[in-house]
Amino acid sequence: MDVDLDGYSVLVTGGTRGIGRAIVQEFAEAGARVAFTYRSSTSEAEALVNELEEQGTDALSLQGDVADTDVAQSHVDAVVDRWETLDVLVNNAGITRDGLMLRLTEEDWDAVLDTNLKGVFNFSKAAYRPMMRSGGSIINISSVVGTNGNAGQTNYAASKAGIVGFSKSLAKELGSRDVTVNVVAPGYVKTDMTDELDDDTRKSILDTVPLDRLAEPREIAESVLFLASPAADYITGHVLHVNGGMSM
Ligand code: NAD
Repeated sequence: MDVDLDGYSVLVTGGTRGIGRAIVQEFAEAGARVAFTYRSSTSEAEALVNELEEQGTDALSLQGDVADTDVAQSHVDAVVDRWETLDVLVNNAGITRDGLMLRLTEEDWDAVLDTNLKGVFNFSKAAYRPMMRSGGSIINISSVVGTNGNAGQTNYAASKAGIVGFSKSLAKELGSRDVTVNVVAPGYVKTDMTDELDDDTRKSILDTVPLDRLAEPREIAESVLFLASPAADYITGHVLHVNGGMSM
């Protein structure tokens, strides 16, 4: 996508794989300085930093759990220490722990809500002050499941619907500070998360997608890049559905 974000500093949570990795690459190609977080695989993160640096991108990897409030603060501080501002925050890290309600454990509930929703709160709160000073944009990754619901995903759907209410509220709080807060809600995307689906489930999903295919991670990343670009300066509190027509 032809967007110039030279001089922007960007922080993407969960940036080593899947959609997060595509977002990192998209911002790097747009000329931004890119920091990304990862939970455990240091070798994967180092390889990605090397790849980005070879392309001429100023890159930073940060290890830790997004559910940890202190980790979020230290990651945002590290970005601001290095680049002075944080212009774009993309809350992408997310997990699933699926199961019908009857079998879902308290641990399944807490793990998903802590990562997917508290993680978004943690990073947005840490970014609040730096962004209040110089403006910026926050883009949170929800899911079609947050709008439509899905049997076996009460925890995941609650976390992703929570992101929508959170983002609209924060958009109202931060609008006067020139900070936009938006949501990208993907349908089903080709990543490790959907690799786990069996053939029958995959087929029944595709039956509901008018475009008759899963999304490429790049197609989600381009929507994120658009919302972070000057072309979207007057868009806030919006949920951009990128789902092949699965939900209209
Ligand atoms: P993925 O499993 O491929 O990658 C998730 C990333 O998040 C990884 O880098 C992982 O390390 C990181 N992560 C997970 N828990 C973390 C934690 N506690 N702390 C720090 N990092 C953590 O997933 P994906 O498919 O690329 O999904 C990315 C986002 O998009 C998620 O929020 C997911 O819910 C959402 N989403 C995915 C799909 C899909 O079809 N894949 C559809 C809709 C929404």
